[in-house]
Amino acid sequence: MSTEPPTPAGVAMNDEHDPRPGDSSGAEAGSWHGYGDGTRSVHAGLPAPEPGQPFLPGPVFAAPYHLDPAAGQGTNPNGYGRPDNPTRRALEAAIGELEGGDCLAFSSGQAAISALLLAVLRPGDGVVLPTDGYFPVRSFATETLAPMGVRVQFAPTAGPYPSFEGVRLLLLETPANPGLDVCDVAELAERAHAAGALVAVDNTTATPLGQRPLDLGADLVVASGTKALTGHSDLLLGYLATRSAELLGTLRSWRATTGSVPGAFDAWLAHRSLATLDLRLARQSANAAAVAAALSQRADVTGLRWPGLVDDPAYPVASRQMHRVPGVLSFDLGDADRVARFLRASRLVFAATSFGGLHTSADRRAQWGDDTPDGFVRLSCGVEDGADLVADITAALDASA
Ligand SMILES: *Cc1c(COP(=O)(O)O)cnc(C)c1O
Repeated sequence: MSTEPPTPAGVAMNDEHDPRPGDSSGAEAGSWHGYGDGTRSVHAGLPAPEPGQPFLPGPVFAAPYHLDPAAGQGTNPNGYGRPDNPTRRALEAAIGELEGGDCLAFSSGQAAISALLLAVLRPGDGVVLPTDGYFPVRSFATETLAPMGVRVQFAPTAGPYPSFEGVRLLLLETPANPGLDVCDVAELAERAHAAGALVAVDNTTATPLGQRPLDLGADLVVASGTKALTGHSDLLLGYLATRSAELLGTLRSWRATTGSVPGAFDAWLAHRSLATLDLRLARQSANAAAVAAALSQRADVTGLRWPGLVDDPAYPVASRQMHRVPGVLSFDLGDADRVARFLRASRLVFAATSFGGLHTSADRRAQWGDDTPDGFVRLSCGVEDGADLVADITAALDASA
C-alpha cells in the first residue's frame, strides 16, 4: 500500500526530476543529483557515514574556536563564528543541494533579502520589485533604497512588466505571497538578461522542491526558511543561493561584515526539519487541493486562489514551471468580522501569521498593513488529515455565515 497521500486532480505539476548535472555545491557526502525529492531531502548536507558518529551532528556552539598558536586559523574554516560555523555549513550544503547552487544562510528571510538589495544596488541603479509580494520588502525599498538614490519600480507578478533598460536587479516572487499569482521565470530572466539586469527569485512559497529558479535561468534565489522549508513554526531563517562565484563572494563578505547569521541551534533545527520536506509538502499540497475543492463550491467564499486549480489564472504557468503546488490558498470572506467568527468556530485552523507549518493556520493579512481587502484570508494547510480539515473548515464557515 502506498503511504503517499493521493494526488488530487489538478495537482499534477511538472514532476520531472531535472537537477542540473554537477550541481553539488560542495555537500560533504557528494551530490544527490538524480535522486528523488524524498531521498534528497533526507540526505542533503549530511556528512559521509562514520562509525560512532551521528547521522546529523549536533549543533556546534562557538564564538571563537581554538587556533593553532603559531599558524593561526590557517586553512581551517573555523576561526570565528560570524564568518563560519560547521552546523551552518552543513545546513547550507543541504539547501544548496536542493536549490542547485551555493547557499548562504541568514538570520531571517528579511536579512537575506535586504543583504541582496544592499549588496547589489548602488545609487542610480534601477530595481523592479513585485507590487503584490511580501510587503516588508516593498516598505524597505521605498523607505531605505529610494532615499539612497536607487530607482525603485514595481510591477504586478502576473505582469505587465516595464522595460528592463537601466535595471540592475529584477526581484520576482512566484507564487507571490499572499495573492498567489505566478510569473514565467525563464521568459522574464531572458528579457532581463538581455537588458543586463540580474534576476533574483523569492522562492519562499514554492520551496526548492516546488521549483528551482536557478534551473529556470535566475541568477539568485532568495527565501525565508521560516515558512514551509523548515515547517515547524519554531525558528526564523533566510538564505540566498546562486551559481555565480562572484555574487557568492560579494554576498558572503556582506554577511560577514553586517553579521546577520543564524545561530547554531536554529541552523541545526532547520537541517533536522529538512529531512521531512518532501513528506510535509506532499500532505500540505493534497490538503490544499481538498480544501480548495470544498471552498470552490461555496457562494459565501469569493476570490479563491490556488495555483493548482485548473481554472486558476496561475495554473498554466504554474503547471509548466513548478514541480508541486504549495499548501497555501487565499480567499475573501467579505469582512474582518466574518474572518474572526470563522477562526473562532474552527478547531483546527489556528489564527496566526506565517505559513507553511505543520499546523493549519489562517491570517487576515489586512491586520498587518498588507495591501489586501479586509476579509482577505491566506490559509496555510498543515499536515492534518485532509478529511478532518475539510470537515472542520466547512463547519466553521457554516457557523460563521
Ligand atoms: C516571510 C517571507 C519573507 C521574510 O522572511 P522572514 O524569515 O520572516 O524574515 C520574505 N519573503 C516571503 C515571500 C515571505 O513569505
